[in-house]
Amino acid sequence: MLPFCDQDQSDLRVQVRAWAEKWLFDRSDEDIDQRARRLVRQLGQESFLNYVIAKDYGGARSQVQARDLCILREELARGDALADAMFAMQALGSYPLTRAGNDEQKSRYLPVIARGNCIAAFALTEAEAGSDVASLATRAIRHGNGFRLTGIKRFISNSGIADSYIVFASTNPDLRGRGISAFIVDATTPGLIVKEKTALLSPHPVGVISLDNCNVHEDTLIGKEGQGLQIAFQTLDLLRCTVGAAAVGLAQRALEEAIQYGKQRRQFGRAIAEFQGNAFKLAEMATDLEAARLLVYQAAWARDCGDDNAKQKSSMAKLYATEAAQRIVDQALQIHGANGLIAGCITERLYRDVRALRIYEGTSEIQKLIIARELLK
Ligand SMILES: Cc1cc2nc3c(=O)[nH]c(=O)nc-3n(C[C@H](O)[C@H](O)[C@H](O)COP(=O)(O)OP(=O)(O)OC[C@H]3O[C@@H](n4cnc5c(N)ncnc54)[C@H](O)[C@@H]3O)c2cc1C
Repeated sequence: MLPFCDQDQSDLRVQVRAWAEKWLFDRSDEDIDQRARRLVRQLGQESFLNYVIAKDYGGARSQVQARDLCILREELARGDALADAMFAMQALGSYPLTRAGNDEQKSRYLPVIARGNCIAAFALTEAEAGSDVASLATRAIRHGNGFRLTGIKRFISNSGIADSYIVFASTNPDLRGRGISAFIVDATTPGLIVKEKTALLSPHPVGVISLDNCNVHEDTLIGKEGQGLQIAFQTLDLLRCTVGAAAVGLAQRALEEAIQYGKQRRQFGRAIAEFQGNAFKLAEMATDLEAARLLVYQAAWARDCGDDNAKQKSSMAKLYATEAAQRIVDQALQIHGANGLIAGCITERLYRDVRALRIYEGTSEIQKLIIARELLK
């Protein structure tokens, strides 16, 4: 039984694990966008995306649960980092609507996102607004029966393959963070242009979006004017511990690969796992992983229960799990020796896949700021 989870959630874990082992362990040669699109469709067909939206709009439960998202992210990441990323983006690109959208917006977007028929994106980051999102420069100026959006967003996951973007723009720059509003914008809206596909260390469909006098109707506004940053933070609060879960999934796979290789690879007449130096490495990796997993599921449980300390626990979980996963993957590669570096092999892939988790949705340093702020308030 998974700690902090009920039987239903433990069953979900068994189901996703079996699916991931069947469909994700062998990589196809498709290009990244094609593979990303296919994965979203498959996740929809398997009903896994039902966990990113609420029951009223076709979802699995009355409310979106962090523990469900963690289970899915952990098991998908154990199979394929891109499958995890595509799952996470359907949550990131829909939760602002779940939290603050009106019934019409929810009815239009949430069911299709859950079926995998609409790929979602979340466009917050800009060149001068990374960790400091309140300083974003994209403007939304009242125009006709809506707003005119102007600005450039970068590092936007699903750029070019998304069907809908949650766009954050300032309706009142004088108010800084309190002047930011959120909009749901269809990818086909004139003026929304994919300027660049950005190649990263690990394959991920990310890029630069330009909003070039992009006119949107008033009914694309999510919540009220000025609530955008609050909506963004509520969304990131839900997703934060789930990034830790993805890290746990990658680290779990790395540990399994290291154990298997350590037992099979022989040097000096014996399996390398028999050397105490390597056995101790495995013991430390397993202990680090277990600590990370417990922090992640504790944080998710705290969030689902509405615990006052959920925010701090989520930051601790993301910080610890992503840093631990980096250590574990590095040690797994060390145990593989040069074989672990061969391009395309699982350890080489994990080594590249794990790195971004310490950066996106709040860097490790930003998690420390959040934890310290809670301690010192
Ligand atoms: C794979 C990937 C996918 C992404 N997808 C999306 C997406 O879909 N949508 C989106 O909007 N964004 C996305 N991003 C962007 C991501 O959210 C930002 O990269 C992240 O918020 C950090 O911003 P930055 O990279 O500009 O770093 P900066 O903010 O420039 O930080 C640089 C360094 O300074 C440190 N630092 C900054 N401020 C402080 C401080 N006050 N105290 C201490 N240290 C500090 C940081 O921790 C970091 O080490 C994605 C990024 C990646 C890597």
